[in-house]
Amino acid sequence: MTEKTSRHDAARRPRPAARSAAATAERPQVMPKAEGWTQPMGPDGRPTLQFKQPRVTQPPTHLADLTLAERQERMKELGLPAFRAKQLSVHYFEHYTTDPEQMTDLPKDRRAEIAEAFFPPLLTEVRRFETDKGDTVKFLWRLFDGALVESVLMRYPGRITLCVSSQAGCGMNCPFCATGQNGLTRNMSAAEIVEQVVVANQVIAAGGLGGTRGGGAHDAERVTNIVFMGMGEPLANYKRLMQAVHRMVDPSPEGLGMSARNITVSTVGLVPAIRKLTQEAVPVTFALSLHAPDDELRDELIPVNSRWKVDEAIDAAYDYFRQTGRRVSIEYALIKDMNDHMWRADLLAKKLNARGRGWVHVNPIPLNPTPGSIWTSSEPAVMREFVQRLQDAGIPTSLRDTRGKEIDGACGQLAAGEGDEA
Ligand code: SF4
Repeated sequence: MTEKTSRHDAARRPRPAARSAAATAERPQVMPKAEGWTQPMGPDGRPTLQFKQPRVTQPPTHLADLTLAERQERMKELGLPAFRAKQLSVHYFEHYTTDPEQMTDLPKDRRAEIAEAFFPPLLTEVRRFETDKGDTVKFLWRLFDGALVESVLMRYPGRITLCVSSQAGCGMNCPFCATGQNGLTRNMSAAEIVEQVVVANQVIAAGGLGGTRGGGAHDAERVTNIVFMGMGEPLANYKRLMQAVHRMVDPSPEGLGMSARNITVSTVGLVPAIRKLTQEAVPVTFALSLHAPDDELRDELIPVNSRWKVDEAIDAAYDYFRQTGRRVSIEYALIKDMNDHMWRADLLAKKLNARGRGWVHVNPIPLNPTPGSIWTSSEPAVMREFVQRLQDAGIPTSLRDTRGKEIDGACGQLAAGEGDEA
């Protein structure tokens, strides 16, 4: 292995007295490095960051790209009364259908034409992977221009969560992330984001989530929670993200009528966009993917940190809480000997507590065990100790579930490629 190591961990940092050997043993500092691919670098020797999408054709406009008023206008352009837009919206947002045959309240001779005008095909299913006895389903989608994206549907007791993609590829160039390896292909449209939810609802209604328990029992079920943790950096596609969020939370016939608090928007720390989100009147749950509390490591782990530093990102997250009253989440992937040192747990707790109490929840996430790679999961004892340190400092902390990891559907692992089609 060629990883760079240094020894500035436990030897230089204070440690509490009675801690487990695995947690307190002096451990190396493994530095982030792309494995199996070459990270694009700029002239300054830093990983490149791509905030703007290349000039590409956008998908055709779909009903979910439009507000109800815009749908009504469009309906009038087709020579139909505006109220037809409401009927059509109910079919899409309540019955999850785009099939003109099922829209019996629309004039028979115009149904096909209306459906064609409002429902251009956006997602073509390439492949579906199931695990957890059918309670986790990963979808690989082809977009209209051939780009591939994924979403992951997960059934938990009392809720159904969908992890959605917001960009094809990603321009943030994180060395651990499969998604960013080919850069940003393009931003997804609002409708392409929303369609992932509507299709997931169709699948659930058909009994496609949860093994063979299909049938009528699933009719009333639908996606209850959305996490923007699939492909892409959602805040780099801000306008379409917010359009999609509106379609999710606005009540029918405007949208799906989901609860904003059940929608989690996560970011690696695009501070100006976090501040913009703070001003929106949609109190979504906000998650900051921090992964390191010190700039020295985070500059390497999350290249956008060279633009907005740890303290700026935490300040913006704290202001989100102050403005919205919504407790924010800090996501922290625990990577063996890279970011799982106890002094980092202490530093993270210190930085969070310095802003106040009760405003934040930390979610450490065990990385997949990858033997032989520098990107492998922390030892269980280290993870426990890391969590304990944060809890001891008064920070609510819980190890996050890593559902879907058997099918590479856990966050940071989504990298749709033609190889997946085999
Ligand atoms: S971790 Fe997130 S922000 Fe970083 S490259 Fe992957 S998808 Fe983009």
